[in-house]
Amino acid sequence: MDEVLRFGAVSIHLGEKSGKYPDGNQVVVNGGGLRVAFDTPLCSNRIGSDFDDVDLVILGHAHEDHMAGLHRVPKARVEVHEADLDAVRSWAGLCEHYGYPPDVLAEMKTLIERDFHYVPRPDATAYTHGQRWDLGGGVRIRAHHLPGHTSGHCALVVESEGVAFIGDIDLTGFGPYYGDATSSLADFRKSLIEVAELDARIWVTSHHRAVISERSKFLADLAGFAGKIDQRNEKLVGYLREGPHSLAELARRRLLYPPGFSLPYVESAELNSIRMHLDELMADGMVRRTDDGFELG
Ligand SMILES: [Zn+2]
Repeated sequence: MDEVLRFGAVSIHLGEKSGKYPDGNQVVVNGGGLRVAFDTPLCSNRIGSDFDDVDLVILGHAHEDHMAGLHRVPKARVEVHEADLDAVRSWAGLCEHYGYPPDVLAEMKTLIERDFHYVPRPDATAYTHGQRWDLGGGVRIRAHHLPGHTSGHCALVVESEGVAFIGDIDLTGFGPYYGDATSSLADFRKSLIEVAELDARIWVTSHHRAVISERSKFLADLAGFAGKIDQRNEKLVGYLREGPHSLAELARRRLLYPPGFSLPYVESAELNSIRMHLDELMADGMVRRTDDGFELG
């Protein structure tokens, strides 16, 4: 049995290892007349009726590990930010969202159908920044658009309880992930500033940190998480200090993952992330392009 934490109308079912990927933490909100799930991580498959009877799933963003329980609730309405809608509605939309090469996408489909119970939801509908849901009994939810991880990534704030579900601004030691086609490092930087301004007393992440109930701890964890971005810039500059590198050479040396760590999408995520860091470093005049790669400016 997974551990459950309760804050008024909000229940948080902790996934394995506090929701470490591939698992996640499941938030369920019970209003007067409506039961709502935020995302559907793997652990939603172990909960039972508290999850299986939800009326509405509000996805904070579209990724396989947040859609792993959608197959259990075919009658529940599914809503997601408009920028992530196509990724929920169809496999073709999810392919665009990931942006990996065709062979990697084929491998991903097999993997997520096997390990994440993946099903598309053509019936999903869109919400936008600032949308409110009134669940009855004084329980209210608001969406706050915090893009970067994906273009539609949102925090879901249960205003009546002061609980902010901040999804994959997950404050883990890995740091921010912006390796997919609709990810953006520049947007993630802005969102890391904005997330600190949410009116909340309790912060819930999808992975690993789970629940933080002290503002000072939240801000310290957030600073550490955000700091990973600058550390990655420094790592790239360190590689280039040894001499010019092509993009492929930089990806082989790894920016995000340890050398040797292998999942189908790792190569694409490395390339995409390194490109965004190089853009930042070039804009700052730290790095310049050569005929076949990059060197220190
Ligand atoms: Zn994600």
